[in-house]
Amino acid sequence: MSQGFLVSAYLISALLFVMSLAGLSRQDSAKTGSLYGMVGMTVAVLATLGSVAMEGFTLVTLLMMAGAAIGLFLAKKVEMTEMPQLVAMLNGFGGLAAVLIGFSSALEPADTLAATEKLIHSIEIFIGIIIGAITFSGSVVACLKLGGNISSRPASLPGGHWTNLALIALAVVMGVVFVQQHSILALVVMTALALVFGITLVLGIGGADMPVVVSMLNAYSGIAAAATGFMLGNNLLIITGAMVGSSGAILSYLMCAAMNRSFISVILGGFGTESGTVSEDSEQGEHVEVNVEEVADMLKNASSVIITPGYGMAVAQAQHPLRELVNKLRAQNIKVRFGIHPVAGRLPGHMNVLLAEAKVPYDIVEEMDELNDDFKDTDVVLVIGANDTVNPAASEDPSSPIAGMPVLKVWEASQVVVFKRSMATGYAGVQNPLFFKDNARMLFGDAHGTVEGILKQF
Ligand code: NDP
Repeated sequence: MSQGFLVSAYLISALLFVMSLAGLSRQDSAKTGSLYGMVGMTVAVLATLGSVAMEGFTLVTLLMMAGAAIGLFLAKKVEMTEMPQLVAMLNGFGGLAAVLIGFSSALEPADTLAATEKLIHSIEIFIGIIIGAITFSGSVVACLKLGGNISSRPASLPGGHWTNLALIALAVVMGVVFVQQHSILALVVMTALALVFGITLVLGIGGADMPVVVSMLNAYSGIAAAATGFMLGNNLLIITGAMVGSSGAILSYLMCAAMNRSFISVILGGFGTESGTVSEDSEQGEHVEVNVEEVADMLKNASSVIITPGYGMAVAQAQHPLRELVNKLRAQNIKVRFGIHPVAGRLPGHMNVLLAEAKVPYDIVEEMDELNDDFKDTDVVLVIGANDTVNPAASEDPSSPIAGMPVLKVWEASQVVVFKRSMATGYAGVQNPLFFKDNARMLFGDAHGTVEGILKQF
């Protein structure tokens, strides 16, 4: 394939990726956005394949087919509740690829390069490998935390932040030794230190701060990909990596704003480590239970209802019967809206995806900031499998591990019904004083079953 053709194909791909990001920024154009991204990636892969020298063609094609088959199998098999872990691992694989390509570049003879070019190439390898290694090991730990394989709480490490600081400082020193002396041993030591740093960094952050970690790792995977693009002299990889890196960074910023946190304090493990005590999960009073008939009566007598979904809605797959319930309520002229907390669920936009899947109209799905002042004028709030995102302790108890995080003020409504299976805590491991308020009622059971039970009363 001629160089001109390759450059044109890459340009088309880059444009399609920009259009994809623009499409993904709005719910109603997200599908088209995904389609642009898929077409862009297909063009990029085919053009790259066409530019591979003949002797490598068969091997590259075979490896790509094997990778595509594994990807297809995993994407088809994964449950909606496991999507966050899948995304974390996809970020991690981006980092691992940067490490492997970095080593392959470092081991390649660079005799044809001039001294300055050699220096720049070594710096590219250093950046690609160090960020790639942190992204890989950090993503593995994030995946284990999100999947509940290890505790979601922030772990206090021996030496605290000083251990982390020492690890990253040593890794950078080893990287500088590699750049100056082209010592592969220094590169191996740097990689090992960066891998350990990735683990300790993510282990030290936890609870309600995890959304920031997930988007931060996403940004890192983009930076690692851009560095790989520089190593390989591949412009499209540089553009794509820069787009992933910057959109991940913007997402991290938005997540921090949503959590009322500064990025630096999250990375330094603020929530629930030194300042906050380890979470309180003991019960804080008497809770009152209700049954589906009573909740149906509350709804029939209401004129305004807000539904606040959380991770439990994803587990129960309750969005489908909920959509039917919403239709019934609206048919009786009851005003119904959904209130979405920015970090509800386990993935940015998790709730929006589920509601869109169940064909809930976009115009009744509102962000926290849009309706947080409306709860006081609302008759009934249905909290469907949400916990941390509706916890009044965040604003009322300065000693709480989630203090300062803005939450949906559901307790201001006349009546609140909490749909969950037990009195267990949410992801952050903090008990919720909402459950013990006078206007709160607990409806225990799997949310899919309880919502269906209410539907039968209409
Ligand atoms: P939480 O994790 O706080 O609570 C979910 C609740 O759902 C639990 O209390 C659980 O109680 C209940 N539940 C689970 N399964 C079911 C079921 N089948 N039927 C009914 N209820 C069920 O959820 P939120 O969405 O309120 O908060 C999200 C948390 O996750 C925050 O702490 C956030 O920081 C964190 N996080 C968010 C990420 C993001 O990007 N959105 C990423 C990583 C973490 P029970 O077991 O009693 O049923």
